[in-house]
Amino acid sequence: MEKAGIYIHFPFCKSRCDYCDFNTCAGMESHISAYCESMQKEISFTSQRFKNDFHIRSIYLGGGTPSYLPAVNIQQIIQTVRRNFKVCPDLEVSMEANPADIQPSKVSLWQAAGINRLSIGMQSARDKELALLGRRHRWLDVQQAVQVAKDAGFTNINLDVMFGLPGQTMRHWQSTVKKVLRLAPTHLSLYALTVEEGTPIARKMTSGQVPMVDEDLAGDMYEWVMEFLPQYGFEQYEISNWAKQDNDVDYCCQHNLLYWRNATYLGLGVAAHSHYGQQRWSNKTDILEYIQTVDEAAAFALPELPCPWGDMFEELSLSEEMNDTAMMGLRLVKEGLRNDLFIQKFGCSLFEVYHDQIEELCNEGLLEVDYDCKGSIHLTRRGCMVGNQVFMRFLSG
Ligand code: SF4
Repeated sequence: MEKAGIYIHFPFCKSRCDYCDFNTCAGMESHISAYCESMQKEISFTSQRFKNDFHIRSIYLGGGTPSYLPAVNIQQIIQTVRRNFKVCPDLEVSMEANPADIQPSKVSLWQAAGINRLSIGMQSARDKELALLGRRHRWLDVQQAVQVAKDAGFTNINLDVMFGLPGQTMRHWQSTVKKVLRLAPTHLSLYALTVEEGTPIARKMTSGQVPMVDEDLAGDMYEWVMEFLPQYGFEQYEISNWAKQDNDVDYCCQHNLLYWRNATYLGLGVAAHSHYGQQRWSNKTDILEYIQTVDEAAAFALPELPCPWGDMFEELSLSEEMNDTAMMGLRLVKEGLRNDLFIQKFGCSLFEVYHDQIEELCNEGLLEVDYDCKGSIHLTRRGCMVGNQVFMRFLSG
């Protein structure tokens, strides 16, 4: 049976970071309990429709800040998924956590709830940078959080770190990465800061309160870290993700692998996106509207798509689905876009569909073909630096 992932969105944060433009809100704590109840209803409704179609390989609790919620809410939601869907024996359950929330009392409840992977949003090892980003934790919190998580038995820990910050020098970045390695995580997600219009950090840049981002320097930081991390046993398996190599354990994020392989995932909760076959849909983006529509839908026996709490629904054409598969698959820098999987899904070879793009991009040194096994295409190191430009070329396939 096909394997799928479930993403669960918790849109609550204690405070809003200065660079954030995600669907999240601070000061809405009074709605947490109603939101979690609605989410349990959504899980149960959704399972009526999909539970016989696939096995759940991963649950990903993201946000927002799921770690900010009372652990009992998290526990109930995971239990509801397990009760309503068929789950794989090696189910991965990841949760995003703010270092300031990682306290012994909460962590043991998360463990008991079945969470077996923590993704900690540390962002930087420099307090000055954390303050500039408007984060509510400091470097000491990160160090304590990792220790608390390990003491509680977590063995699969990701650290999210940002580079290309305003005023950040190469030396600062290198020092952050070296401090990160001393914490011995098993996975790293490293992202360049994207300055979104309308965020406090963008306003501060425009008014000259903080320096503009140096994009060339950010590129150099990315290039440096690609060279540096393999010496410490980290393999880059996706444009922004590195997993610690281990003969016995695969530390790649199994949930995100489903996205990059353009496989099936269900997104539950406000603004969450889903993908199944050639269909995509997303939920309402307003918390109160989401709660209200899910609750009203309790009167229906079996909701059809688009669900009453849906916001968008689209049926993709075959070529759109192929292009998405190509663009997502190319993010996997090690595995690449595999022709055997492409043929299995679409009944034709990617070397036929994208013949011209592959030839041009190979000539430009951005792509390479691996003829081992059944053939695959991969970004080169230079291709990783300009990933978006490469992906755009596959839109015209
Ligand atoms: S914790 Fe994450 S989701 Fe919440 S405000 Fe900060 S960046 Fe946004």
